[in-house]
Amino acid sequence: MDQKDQSYLSHYNTSDLRKKWWMFKAMSFPVLSTIGPAILEKSIQLGLPVKSLVKSTLFEQFCGGEDLEECLPVVTRLQKMGLHTVLDYGVESDKVADQKDAVVKELKRVIDFTAKNSHVEFGVLKLSALVDDKMLHAVTDQKKLNKPEQKAWDQFEETAMDLFQYAHQKKVRVFVDAEQSWIQGAIDQIAELGMRTFNKERAIVYTTMQMYRHDRLEYLKKMIQEAKNLEYILGVKIVRGAYLEGERDRAFERGYPSPIQKDKASTDKDFDEGLLLCIENIDFVAFCCGSHNQNSCELAATKIKELKLDPKHSHIDFSQLYGMSDFLSILLRDLGFRVSKYLPYGPVEFVVPYLIRRARENSSVTDQTQAELEAIKLELNRRKP
Ligand SMILES: Cc1cc2nc3c(=O)[nH]c(=O)nc-3n(C[C@H](O)[C@H](O)[C@H](O)COP(=O)(O)OP(=O)(O)OC[C@H]3O[C@@H](n4cnc5c(N)ncnc54)[C@H](O)[C@@H]3O)c2cc1C
Repeated sequence: MDQKDQSYLSHYNTSDLRKKWWMFKAMSFPVLSTIGPAILEKSIQLGLPVKSLVKSTLFEQFCGGEDLEECLPVVTRLQKMGLHTVLDYGVESDKVADQKDAVVKELKRVIDFTAKNSHVEFGVLKLSALVDDKMLHAVTDQKKLNKPEQKAWDQFEETAMDLFQYAHQKKVRVFVDAEQSWIQGAIDQIAELGMRTFNKERAIVYTTMQMYRHDRLEYLKKMIQEAKNLEYILGVKIVRGAYLEGERDRAFERGYPSPIQKDKASTDKDFDEGLLLCIENIDFVAFCCGSHNQNSCELAATKIKELKLDPKHSHIDFSQLYGMSDFLSILLRDLGFRVSKYLPYGPVEFVVPYLIRRARENSSVTDQTQAELEAIKLELNRRKP
């Protein structure tokens, strides 16, 4: 696949392109991308007035807006580029302690919006936004719940199932995002229940598997077998995983074996093997390859071609995060695949943890940052009078 074609950038105006260039340039400096997020985190904690700075930089680069309406121009621009959108109301657990009803309402709005807009492919559910982390932790650890805890858990399960039911009724697919390993067991439990209940005729509920965990390939195999046995479609978004440092630090501090693979090569191996397994079992598995890694995407594309599958098969999706790897999204689009950009939105202060992860991730993905920079520079040069 060729990386040199930058014509997709014609959809951006020149000042947006210059801004994009500066953002990627700043993130490619190790000092800035290490210290910057730490300063931002502290500033938000201290209540310093950094919102407008964040909004005109990181937020603009990686988010659609503060509410659904603000996302519309971005959805339209992506549509013009032949790309689809995945809407992610980007609230994270600690921000929403008393706002669960409001979150549920917003998630239903996302499902409605997705149902009405043929270029919006999925809604996203981050289950930690709907229940106390302590509950997710206790269930993951298989602790015996006391009566009030059991009641809270049952209520949470009902809320999640109600959202899945709503999505099912509207024929909208939803991703259940994967989070930290110490709460993931509980999230898996709910996602599995959703899939067994609502994925009989088509995939509505998609769980997420993080292949940087050394136990996930086995889990994927087990779930494929279960889908075959119970006759439902396993929906799965395959990602590498976004919480590497936190996982390793916590395991080290608390003295338990890290759930993370020993090195990047092992993550890549399981990711690729997982993708191939999904493709080989396409009748029972609907998958989304959530990755910016060109080798993995190429591997999947080649296997799909080899098996003579329709690239627009309803069980095949590719997705990259909004603001990242546009060139790869376009390459996949040109190969005939359905490609979406994962578009978080929400009040600036709610999405800061997400923005910090992106700033850190872009500093470590230097090849991609370089590719984006090169493409933008070529396009800016092309526009010179
Ligand atoms: C559509 C989409 C949805 C997503 N949803 C989720 C989600 O629900 N949950 C979630 O956690 N993340 C999610 N992500 C984020 C995703 O995990 C990161 O974007 C991804 O890890 C970046 O990897 P990559 O596949 O793009 O490829 P690369 O850039 O090739 O890989 C980088 C990744 O490899 C892994 N890695 C790096 N170094 C090591 C090492 N030394 N040892 C072991 N592993 C290593 C890490 O996971 C790192 O992020 C999503 C991403 C996309 C595109």
